[in-house]
Amino acid sequence: MVAAQEARAERLLREVIAATLLARAEELGGAIHLEELGDFPLPDGTRWRLIDPGGGGIWNPSALTATLAITTSPDGPYNDREEEGGLLHYAYQGKAGSSDGKNTKMVRAFEFGLPLIRYTKVMPNWYVPTFPVYVVGNNPIVREFTLALDESIRAIPSESTMSAVEKAYATRLVRQRVHQPAFRARVMLAYERRCAICVLKHVELLDAAHIIEDANDWGDPVVTNGLSLCKIHHAAYDRQLLGISPDYVVRVNRRLLREVDGPMLKHGLQEMDGRTLHVPVKGSDQPDRDRLDQRFQGFLSA
Ligand SMILES: [Zn+2]
Repeated sequence: MVAAQEARAERLLREVIAATLLARAEELGGAIHLEELGDFPLPDGTRWRLIDPGGGGIWNPSALTATLAITTSPDGPYNDREEEGGLLHYAYQGKAGSSDGKNTKMVRAFEFGLPLIRYTKVMPNWYVPTFPVYVVGNNPIVREFTLALDESIRAIPSESTMSAVEKAYATRLVRQRVHQPAFRARVMLAYERRCAICVLKHVELLDAAHIIEDANDWGDPVVTNGLSLCKIHHAAYDRQLLGISPDYVVRVNRRLLREVDGPMLKHGLQEMDGRTLHVPVKGSDQPDRDRLDQRFQGFLSA
């Protein structure tokens, strides 16, 4: 009884922490720096460490009964595997045989059904939070937890019990809820939260646009297939009113150039014709010229 009540209070506290954290991440374009996560202010004035000091693995605040957060990163020491269908296999921390310190609180999160924050490391020291994820399986033999990456996948404990249709839906859902935010965060960081065309710096007015749309085979959510664009330039790019050549020059539709209207048309669109795109400093983050070219052909023939 007491345990159930405690779990309920802890569930609410987690909701408060996560809501505050996600709102802050949105303000920053998706990712939060490790330093800020180490001393994070909550609405009640308290400050919390919300991630392991090293940025990796399992984070168990002493004030909580169960694990608060886990981190996954492509360069981490554990072989964490994300399966199709929105399930993540997460290795126990530490060596087998040693006391199972950190893993104990993961087991509690499993037993009480408490929601966790999951961080995806998108760059050194930068983390994208998603919430809620749930521990839905614990396998002490292979020393591995299974996590559901979305509330709606929670009832499904393993891929083997998933039908093909369920798997397809779950995969699409995780792409929208988890992979798209990580894509946006990577693009915002690479472009230093500025529109690549007009350099507008208001992150709430910026989108991570795809050069080749993500329904296409070539449309992976990678930075080189992305552009940070303000809302107006994103919409103009999607409707072929504006094109970007493979050598990073902005082109405005001929008919649009001849129109006469207010300042938005003149300064916001027409004056962008011939401007050089502001691309990330890091070469490996710069937009892929082949993808730009494919897209630019569509603009030229529009
Ligand atoms: Zn813009």
